[in-house]
Amino acid sequence: MVTTLRDARRARHIAEQVPDPELPMLSLADLGVLRDVELTEDGTVVASLTPTYSGCPAMAEMRADVAARLRDAGYARVEIRTVLDPPWTSDWITPAGRRKLTEHGIAPPGPAAPPGGPVPLVLSPTRHTVTCPRCGSANTEETSRFAATSCKSLWRCRACREPFEYVKEI
Ligand SMILES: [Zn+2]
Repeated sequence: MVTTLRDARRARHIAEQVPDPELPMLSLADLGVLRDVELTEDGTVVASLTPTYSGCPAMAEMRADVAARLRDAGYARVEIRTVLDPPWTSDWITPAGRRKLTEHGIAPPGPAAPPGGPVPLVLSPTRHTVTCPRCGSANTEETSRFAATSCKSLWRCRACREPFEYVKEI
């Protein structure tokens, strides 16, 4: 098998387009979980993924999806690696990904705590402004800490009265 740069780019492109099982409007590239896609000399595609929210059981599905799509595209040998360091944070969601969330009525996460920063002694719910993805009002309130999946919480806008989901920052 001839390994070319073009092949490697194609493999990366295919892996990037795989949707996130929990937030299907986002690709793995939007989510920032795809760390690397390499094509080794023997033609094996090695895709490295970093898991997201520890409470989200989506990682196994993501790995299987990436492997299946690459095999469908003609790459017979696929290896999926898990990269835990550095750990994923919601800051890795790309600007395009944040825009797509908003377009789907989901509020994107705010900035995550800086790595190595001070650790709060009391674990209280994060207090910050969550903007309504529909009307842009900051007059919102959390109605449930957990939405359909543990990576999201449920909010309500006091201005337009619409409920919406919010992707938590971690
Ligand atoms: Zn609103």
